[in-house]
Amino acid sequence: MVAADPTLKCVVCYARISFDGRVKDAHGVEDQHRDMTGNAKKFNWLVVYRYTDNDKSASKETVVRDDFEQLLSDLTVGTTPEGYPIHGVMAANDDRLYRRPSDWERYLKAFSAHEDRVYHDSNGIQDLYAEGFEIKGLVGVAMSLSETRKKQRRTRNSHRSRALRGQPVAAWRPFGWQDDKITLDPVESRAIRQAVDDVLAGASISEITRRWKEAGYLTSRGNLFQYQSVKQVLINPRLCGYRELKGELVRDGDDQPIVGTWEAIITPKKWYAITAKIRERGHGSGLPRGGLVHKYLLTGIMRCGNVLEDGTTCNNKMTGVKANDWLKYRHGYLCKKTVDGGCNRTYKRGDKTDEYIERLVIAKLKAEAEAAREEVPEWSRADDLERAVQSRKALEQRWQKGEIDDEAFFRNLPPLETRIKELRADQAHHLALKAEAEAAREDVTASWGDKTLTQKRTAIKKVLHAVIAVPGGKGNKAFDVELLKPVWRSGG
Ligand SMILES: [Zn+2]
Repeated sequence: MVAADPTLKCVVCYARISFDGRVKDAHGVEDQHRDMTGNAKKFNWLVVYRYTDNDKSASKETVVRDDFEQLLSDLTVGTTPEGYPIHGVMAANDDRLYRRPSDWERYLKAFSAHEDRVYHDSNGIQDLYAEGFEIKGLVGVAMSLSETRKKQRRTRNSHRSRALRGQPVAAWRPFGWQDDKITLDPVESRAIRQAVDDVLAGASISEITRRWKEAGYLTSRGNLFQYQSVKQVLINPRLCGYRELKGELVRDGDDQPIVGTWEAIITPKKWYAITAKIRERGHGSGLPRGGLVHKYLLTGIMRCGNVLEDGTTCNNKMTGVKANDWLKYRHGYLCKKTVDGGCNRTYKRGDKTDEYIERLVIAKLKAEAEAAREEVPEWSRADDLERAVQSRKALEQRWQKGEIDDEAFFRNLPPLETRIKELRADQAHHLALKAEAEAAREDVTASWGDKTLTQKRTAIKKVLHAVIAVPGGKGNKAFDVELLKPVWRSGG
């Protein structure tokens, strides 16, 4: 093929993806190769070999780039490992090839070991044999070196360093604070504190959203709150003075979270608790679960205990229904006839039923709170976390000193990071447990009245499987609590 077409040139492509420890290179290796292959076609060049170095930074002295070395030796010999002649080289960008003067010199020497070679990069086709190109290349190297350094400095000076100094970095006034982003807004911060307590006690984010909408609160961008924006406010570590960057708390050299200069709204402990609570509920979908807000306390919790003609119990879930206008009470529970069954025979007046079940549940919760009084033990894995953090620190130091190469560093880093992440999640979970145990100790009776309907339903479902309602007590007969049979959850 090569012999038949004298204009056809066999070229090799070089791609490299760098990994600076934080951000994956935007252009993946495949993208680079795809672009180069596309360009080769335009010039009637044939790509006969692809060299690829992965995760290696060309500007670090200690790094050996295997395929780059292979390329140099193949260029010198004149053929690819399979024996194709090399008439030219393509690179996505010249800084993919070299970032250090010594690399550039070696590359140029290997390239010009043979005559009439072509070279192409993002600057187009270039004549590497031309007089002065050696200098031009060196200048390029120098510029790209300074670019690398500048980039490193820039990231060091940006968000992270501001965050490390504990200074606010938000572009907008955060909800809860005044324009200086430091002083609390009395009304908004109170609303947040209340919402955190309510969610910890079982309120749904949908309920908070509705409340904030009704109150006319606006997000920092001037919109009414939606489910997502409320959720974001509530899990923001800023609430307790912490700062998050890319999903991780910003920590100082001793691995302690940096505390900002702004006033905090809640304690870190509460923030851990609320974050754990919301995440565990969210199941990753980020959407309100169910989306259904019940109107009556015991809908779905009440079950019909009517014995049918065939001797079985109906056991249908009862529905809350509006009571007739002439009655003294507002709602009732009915075993509605549906496609799934339902005998339409059992009905209970709502006020008395709710009152009785609430009384039972409060008594039960009180007993449980007593039992929860025994302390949640201290977190037992603090030493493990400390050790893992120290190991990572040591690894980073050895890498920075050049005692280990990038390959070893990036091979050893991920398992350590995973372990630290896992331990921190466990720690957060433990803190949440502790906060929950503490919350359980507050007076159940006093707080019950302040609970929203969803909070009450959550509390009820935590201790009760169901309430079986046996028909009877209709009409003028007195309401008979004996006809309501709670089914308690075991272990409670
Ligand atoms: Zn029934």
